[in-house]
Amino acid sequence: MIDRIMFPTMKDTGLSRSAEDYLKAVYSLNERGEPAGTSELARALDVQPGSVSGMIRRLAEDGLLEHEPYHGVRLTPEGSREALKVLRRHRIIESFLVRRLGYDWEDVHAEAERLEHAASDRLIERMAEAMDHPTTDPHGAPIPTRHGKIAATPWPRLDEVAAGTRVTVRAVSDEDPEWLRYFKSVSVVPGARALVQRSGADGGPVTLMVDGASEPLSMRPAVARRVAVTEA
Ligand SMILES: [Zn+2]
Repeated sequence: MIDRIMFPTMKDTGLSRSAEDYLKAVYSLNERGEPAGTSELARALDVQPGSVSGMIRRLAEDGLLEHEPYHGVRLTPEGSREALKVLRRHRIIESFLVRRLGYDWEDVHAEAERLEHAASDRLIERMAEAMDHPTTDPHGAPIPTRHGKIAATPWPRLDEVAAGTRVTVRAVSDEDPEWLRYFKSVSVVPGARALVQRSGADGGPVTLMVDGASEPLSMRPAVARRVAVTEA
């Protein structure tokens, strides 16, 4: 109960926790070029579609979202600034938990989902400074600067890469602890290099040989999709 009372007064933006979650969800759908309609948002936020339209309307009235014909909603520049602030808080918190408190990388997302709404900008900047301003979080995702700039990441997904390509792993999706444990166990972590032996573009399994491993790895395209890479 206490957290419900304290969260609004501890934040700097004045947005409610769920408004912040909506903006973040729209940001990540927009970023992937996917439609951000009522049903996509309901799925991303794990809420009933009926409750989505009211919040969309409020956020649009506040100038944070705008309707995009046939594509749901997109963030206005103001909405994008707010979403990037929440992403910064999330990723700094994840970084701090791993680097300073010794958390495993699969355990930090859930903590950050809670704390991102509670932490003040001042606390986040102190954390960033204590870590000498990291530019990526433990899963490889870029951390927006305090001025709201973020490195563009048009990174291909591992399932899209052609056979015979050497790749460097850039980032791994942070949401599912089970898959994060798996990726760590097979050394598919940011900075790892690998040779793609079989592409998943046809819907079949992706096969790759991670540098230093003794045998190739095979994974379903839906799993390989969780891994962002660049050619290396
Ligand atoms: Zn996370």
